[in-house]
Amino acid sequence: MNAEIIAVGSELLTAERVDTNSLFLTDELNRIGVEVTTKYVVGDDRERLADTVHRAAERSEFVILSGGLGPTEDDVTRDAVASALDRRLIFHQPICDAIEQRFRAMKWKMPDINRRQAFILEGAEILPNDRGTAPGQWIDIRHCSVMLLPGPPHELKFMFQKHCAARIARRVPKLAIETLVLRVAGMSESALDELISPVYKKHANPVTTVLAHAGDIQIHLRARCTTPAQSLALLAEVGGQIELLLGDRIYSRNGDPLEVVVGTLLKKQKATLAVAESVTGGGLAERITTVAGSSDYFLGGFVTYSRKLKISLLGVLPETLEKCGAVSKETAEAMAAGARNRTGASHALAITGNAGPTTDGDDAPVGMVYVALADAAGTVSTHRQFNADRERVRQFSGQMALDLLRRRLLTPG
Ligand code: ATP
Repeated sequence: MNAEIIAVGSELLTAERVDTNSLFLTDELNRIGVEVTTKYVVGDDRERLADTVHRAAERSEFVILSGGLGPTEDDVTRDAVASALDRRLIFHQPICDAIEQRFRAMKWKMPDINRRQAFILEGAEILPNDRGTAPGQWIDIRHCSVMLLPGPPHELKFMFQKHCAARIARRVPKLAIETLVLRVAGMSESALDELISPVYKKHANPVTTVLAHAGDIQIHLRARCTTPAQSLALLAEVGGQIELLLGDRIYSRNGDPLEVVVGTLLKKQKATLAVAESVTGGGLAERITTVAGSSDYFLGGFVTYSRKLKISLLGVLPETLEKCGAVSKETAEAMAAGARNRTGASHALAITGNAGPTTDGDDAPVGMVYVALADAAGTVSTHRQFNADRERVRQFSGQMALDLLRRRLLTPG
């Protein structure tokens, strides 16, 4: 069964306000087993909104509107839905009394315009609003149920959970939805898609989505079968084929981010970690310490942005910097070795690079990043030339360093 969500409010079409209600509703509907096929954000425009409601109600089993139920001129949802569904609006004295009572309890007089909130669509059921003045409405027309919910998120959430969720669930054939999230590092989104799309394109169930962000790729597989066991078996079958293709590029199968995966490996091996950062300016240490319990393995780090501090804090030789440059394999390796020596950590990571936008007097091109890892077996390094803006180069660099460490911890020596 399908749902469409319509967020109403001109403020949601500005850069200042984000439509978070539809995220909440999507999550709730998916949990119940309803697929959200379309989401709209419509300004306070009666005609456009009526047109949107009309189209949505023609093709989906559920249409949920959020917002525009207030008392002011720009709250057009009631009128627009009445016009879209060709229903009259009928004044309800008990609702008006209840709103008036809310005002009286606060020792205020109800403004006359609040009477507008007491108009209900012909044939609609009232959804009481325990958290605000605007009541919600539920109306069934032919194959479709249309819900009008208030815009303030705390009102909408409460009303949806109390008055809509169970009712929708009763109409939805019971499906067990299970999800598998694979997280991948060390390859581009397009290379990954080229590799795995021949597998996932063959299957409408599970539905596969690939999401990429700053060097981290997530593959979401969602299976919907009659029983949980069937859904899990389907995930194992299709997910298994994808896992075979990606091998150790998959770093997590439960949604955990790379810093958690690396932290778990360090803890298991009773290893410790130090970092030396240039281009990331402390971002790597920040990421590592977001994990609760990271003090078990993380000793600390050096933010050595200048050549001077690379020399004095990490012991990088001036000749290395002079001959090879600050952004080089040699400097990265010397930084990692220095961080390990000076902290006594079993493992040390170093990052040096040029995030741009200019080359900063160094010869390294914009986007060039070197990461190095020092441990008891010696020092290794790798480099990448990124074509991205400053922030993304910094994010990619952290991901690259953590992945280098992950691979080393999986196959030490
Ligand atoms: P009210 O009686 O408060 O006017 P309403 O149903 O008319 O309720 P709106 O006026 O549209 O709701 O919005 C009220 C508040 O809720 C505003 O602060 C608005 O930004 C917020 N809001 C509305 N829609 C959303 C949404 N889709 N996501 C997040 N916040 C929202």
